[in-house]
Amino acid sequence: MSNYRIGVLNGDDIGHEIVPVAEQVLRAGLARHPGAQVEWVHLPIGYKSFLEHGHSLLPEVLDTLYTLDGWILGPIGHMAYPKDPNCINPHPILRKKYDLVSNVRPALALPGVRCIGPKTDLIIVRENNEGFQPDRNMYRGTSDCMPTEDMALSLRVITRRNSSMAARTAFELARQRGGRKKVTAVHKNTVFKLGCGLFLDSCKEVAQDYPDIELESCIVDTFAMRMLMKPEQYDVVVTTNMFGDILSDEAAGLVGGLGMAPGLCIGPDYCMAQATHGSAPDIAGKNIANPYAMIESARMMLSWIAEKKQDADGIAAAEDIRRALLRVVRERTDVTPDLGGTGTTTSMGEAVCRAIAEG
Ligand code: ATP
Repeated sequence: MSNYRIGVLNGDDIGHEIVPVAEQVLRAGLARHPGAQVEWVHLPIGYKSFLEHGHSLLPEVLDTLYTLDGWILGPIGHMAYPKDPNCINPHPILRKKYDLVSNVRPALALPGVRCIGPKTDLIIVRENNEGFQPDRNMYRGTSDCMPTEDMALSLRVITRRNSSMAARTAFELARQRGGRKKVTAVHKNTVFKLGCGLFLDSCKEVAQDYPDIELESCIVDTFAMRMLMKPEQYDVVVTTNMFGDILSDEAAGLVGGLGMAPGLCIGPDYCMAQATHGSAPDIAGKNIANPYAMIESARMMLSWIAEKKQDADGIAAAEDIRRALLRVVRERTDVTPDLGGTGTTTSMGEAVCRAIAEG
C-alpha cells in the first residue's frame, strides 16, 4: 500500500534531464526505508504537453494534482512558447490554484563549491501569489495595463492574509533551524507606505506568536547590499513577491549560481518542488545541467510531506538523500561543469544514488 502520492512533471528544456534524475535519487533514498511507499504519478506539462495533447496545462492534470501530497515541477521555458491560447505558462496557475503562498528558497554555501559568499547560510521566503506579478495578482484581467499607448501601469497587490502566511512560514523555519533564530522582513515602507506597511505590520503580528525568534526589518536596497557584504548575519528572510524573486537570484549568485538554488512552494495543503532557476535553453539537451537544485527541491518536498504525515521513514529517507548529496558535492564526485567538474547531469545523479546506497 502506498502512503505517499507524488507527481512528476518534467517541464521544459533541462527539465527533461534534471527531473528524472531527481526522481531517481528520491527512489534510491526511499528504497532504504520501505515504510515510506510512494505512488509516482507522471503528468504532462509545458511545451511537450502542448505538442502531444494540444495544451500546456490539461484540465485533467489540474484535477489529478488535487489528489497528490505534492509534486516535482521542472522549469518552464514559457518565453519560447508559440502565441497560442492553449500554450500558456503553467507555473503561476499552479502556485495560485493550490494556494502555494510561500516560496522557500535556501542559499547555502557548501564545502567543495567555489563561490563568492562562502559564509552564506540563509533562507529567503518569498510571498508567491500577489505583489507586482500580473499573471497571478488579479481575479480576472491583468494588473499590467496601458491606459494609453504612452503610459503603462503595473499595480502591486499586498494582503494581510498572504503576508501573514509567508511570515509564519519564515518564523517556523527560523524555529526549526535553531540557529541565529532571526527573521528579517525586507520591504520598502519608506516609499510604499501602505503596501509595504501592511506587509511589515503582518510580520509584526505573526512575530507575537514567536517570542523566541527575533524580528528585524530592513529596507530592500540596504538589504541587497548587506547580503552581499555580510550574508552570515542573516538567517531567515521574508519578503514580498518581486523583491524575493530578485533577491533569491542574488543569493544564488553568492553560493555558486542557479544550479545551487533549490526551492519549495508550500501552502496549507500541497507543496511543489520547483528550483529557482529557469529552463536554461542554452544548455538543454547537453546533459550538463547541474541537478543539485532540482534534487534538493525534491528532497525538501519529501521532507515536508513526511513531517506533515509524521512518518519517520520518509524523514529518514530525506536525511539520507541530504547526506549523500552533500557528500557528492564536497568530494566533487562527478560534479557538472558549472561546479568546475567534468561530470554530467546523469553521472552526478548516479553518484548521489551510489552515496545513498553506501549509507
Ligand atoms: P527564468 O526567467 O525562467 O527564471 P532565468 O532568466 O533565471 O530563467 P535560467 O534559465 O535559469 O534563466 O538560466 C540563467 C543562466 O543560468 C543560464 O546561463 C543557464 O545555463 C544557467 N543555469 C540555470 N540553471 C542551471 C543549472 N541547473 N545548471 C547549470 N546552469 C544553469
